[in-house]
Amino acid sequence: MLKLTPILLAIAYAVVMYRISVWRTHRDLDARSTELADPRLKRLTDRLAAALNIARVPVYIYEIDPVNGLAAPDGRIFITRGFYRKFQNGEVSAEEMASVIAHELGHVALGHARRRMIDFSGQNALRTALILVLNRFIPLIGVWIANGLTALLASRLSRGDEYEADEYAAALLTKAGIGIEPQKSLFRKLETLTQARAGVVPAWLMSHPKTDERIAALERLETRWSDGG
Ligand SMILES: [Zn+2]
Repeated sequence: MLKLTPILLAIAYAVVMYRISVWRTHRDLDARSTELADPRLKRLTDRLAAALNIARVPVYIYEIDPVNGLAAPDGRIFITRGFYRKFQNGEVSAEEMASVIAHELGHVALGHARRRMIDFSGQNALRTALILVLNRFIPLIGVWIANGLTALLASRLSRGDEYEADEYAAALLTKAGIGIEPQKSLFRKLETLTQARAGVVPAWLMSHPKTDERIAALERLETRWSDGG
């Protein structure tokens, strides 16, 4: 029992850290977001809602600059202020914004949102706990292994989710009559819009799969669907 105590403490610590960071993320989302009131986007999200047989899609603007979309486990979709600005200045079209919203709806519908909250806010807690445990057995190198394991786990988890959410979005956009093209054109743009990460981080560490792989996956879907499958 005495030997296990540090491990149990590390796990307890990770759980507490995780709860706190999820609570913080929720609080931050609530405090720094307002419901989107944009007639051009509303027209498209209403088409998505109709295709889903729901009254409306709850979309919010999250007041941060990095270009991103986020889905809360309660079904709210958040578009960052930075992303919305790209739409306002014409860099991103309304249909492309709708494709992001459809993708985030996919994360909600497929049950990824809760796990993504862990990704978004709890990775640090997991890493800290791993460091505490590993350092007892392999001092110094333990930190490296903990960092590597956390990053690898997070990227593996979320990469599968991205393809699934893309596929959901493709089906929804097709049903709503918007089509897959805006999804593909946005992927091409995303590479330049989120340039900060590209080229610096090795591919296997990126939480989002490579753009050309995501486009290729969508094209395989199109072929399958047009073959009457
Ligand atoms: Zn995603």
